[in-house]
Amino acid sequence: MSAAGQGPAPDDPTALVRPVVRALGHYTLPPRPHRVKVNQNENPFELPAEFKAEVLAAMSAAPWGRYPDFTPTGLLERLAARAGWTPDGVLAGNGSNELLSVLFQATVEPGATVVLAVPTFSLYPTMIRVAGGEVCPVPLVPAGPGPGDGLVFDVDALVASARASAARLVVVCSPNNPTGSFLPEAGVLRLLEETDGLVVVDEAYHEFAPWNAGGLLARHPRLVLLRTFSKALALAGLRVGYLLADPRLARELDKVRLPYNLSRFSTIAASAALDRYDELLAPRTARLLALRAGLAREIAAIPGFWPWPSAANFLCVRSERPPREVLATLDARGVLARDVSGQPLLAGCLRVSVGDELENAEVVAGMRE
Ligand code: PMP
Repeated sequence: MSAAGQGPAPDDPTALVRPVVRALGHYTLPPRPHRVKVNQNENPFELPAEFKAEVLAAMSAAPWGRYPDFTPTGLLERLAARAGWTPDGVLAGNGSNELLSVLFQATVEPGATVVLAVPTFSLYPTMIRVAGGEVCPVPLVPAGPGPGDGLVFDVDALVASARASAARLVVVCSPNNPTGSFLPEAGVLRLLEETDGLVVVDEAYHEFAPWNAGGLLARHPRLVLLRTFSKALALAGLRVGYLLADPRLARELDKVRLPYNLSRFSTIAASAALDRYDELLAPRTARLLALRAGLAREIAAIPGFWPWPSAANFLCVRSERPPREVLATLDARGVLARDVSGQPLLAGCLRVSVGDELENAEVVAGMRE
């Protein structure tokens, strides 16, 4: 298979795996005991028991032995209404991860270039490489000279890189995981107007941001947005995400989506969550925004810690002490945060999700210690 001494032995079945896959890192988090879980940007506010009972009743009444519809029309209509878009421009998936995979499989030819603003969500390069694409990373740039200023998108460099490589796609995560920065409207417009490929904005955290790109869809057929029920919509366990795009593009992507990708249960729960969005979910998001401001203030008051500005439900925190030591101290107190210091430009950084009042107090106490 490969040069002497490298690669799998002849009887090793992994010799039959594509080299590009063997070369990938494994995206996984080993489970750890904890009291406070702030490592996956989940929503700390569980949906109420009466909401769950309503969903379970609907599920009980639905057939379990029959496939769901090919297209979850009711859910797509609700998503379209909420996003101000057309139902035939919406796809629903088993988490937005699945739709990212569908998008890359459908659009990334072997050898095609995908421009990616980094550091960012680490699954993108994995998926792009599995699809056969080449990742062209474009670093974020410091927003200012201070350790707490954070990193922002370099639109000039993204445009230049996309043009020079004739990129098939430019992918930005906004608000960006794990830096918390977001790309303002002028930046998205420049990417759309000055590059020729698809402009993909992962808006997994858009509910926590001052702006989102939904209003640009009607005028920009090369814009693709990805969103999720895993963050503001508090349904990470049920795996629901959605994609918004020009209906012509959505139709092509839908050929790659596997049939019945969304279970009946997830579809029912997601539809119910949207029906009660204003009453149940919007207040939780507002509360998280207030909690984010409080957590940032408290962390900023600890010497040697600098929370970066965030438009999401997490904070990227620059620490004077090595993040591994800080994380070990937090871990010893049962607080599970995320080490992001191995990523480019993030040496000295860790990431904490915004939790409820008690969880945030535990994070702050651990950092003080
Ligand atoms: N995009 C980003 C930027 C994320 O941070 C995550 C989850 N951490 C996802 C997508 C995946 O979300 P989902 O649960 O919808 O697959």
